[in-house]
Amino acid sequence: MMATNMISNPDKIREIIDKCDTCYVGMVDERGNPYVLPFNFGYQDGSIYLHMAPQGKKIGVLKNNPHVCVAFSTDHELFNRHAHVACSYGMKYRSVLAYGKAEFIEDYDEKVRIMNVTMRKYTGKDFSYNAPAIHNVCVCHIHIEKIEGKLSGYF
Ligand SMILES: Cc1cc2nc3c(=O)[nH]c(=O)nc-3n(C[C@H](O)[C@H](O)[C@H](O)COP(=O)(O)OP(=O)(O)OC[C@H]3O[C@@H](n4cnc5c(N)ncnc54)[C@H](O)[C@@H]3O)c2cc1C
Repeated sequence: MMATNMISNPDKIREIIDKCDTCYVGMVDERGNPYVLPFNFGYQDGSIYLHMAPQGKKIGVLKNNPHVCVAFSTDHELFNRHAHVACSYGMKYRSVLAYGKAEFIEDYDEKVRIMNVTMRKYTGKDFSYNAPAIHNVCVCHIHIEKIEGKLSGYF
């Protein structure tokens, strides 16, 4: 069995999140069924930011029930103790789970700020946007209520 460690240090949690280019947002639909989607994201000061087209299943799901669980994972590395023994194989990883509530942002300037948190993550730059682009994008602020990190195989 590979040793695992839980992480609560915010800097270490941030390091893991910053290495990820995708997060997986777990939602609960109107029937109580799970709905999980991959998203690009921004992360700053204990908040996760998502942006999305203003239509599609996810919009109705999140408006009906804003509770989400967001998963991040990185540094995946297959290892084995004995190449010929299946149960000696495992995966090293670093991962984070964030639980919180999604709020749709309507304020124009706040949407621009959030889009730049996301764009900075992927490009290292701020951008200016034309008004229709901002009006036509849905922006979600996920207020994190609980966050946990986990290492497996790393120390
Ligand atoms: C790496 C990555 C990053 C992404 N980043 C973003 C982002 O930042 N913003 C964004 O809005 N979207 C992003 N997407 C796409 C996102 O995962 C959804 O596919 C998209 O937002 C549509 O979701 P919806 O609920 O509106 O589906 P709808 O368009 O309403 O689709 C209807 C049905 O299609 C199926 N479906 C939806 N999405 C997927 C999927 N990804 N794979 C397989 N089946 C699916 C579901 O069964 C759903 O019921 C990303 C996808 C990937 C793989």
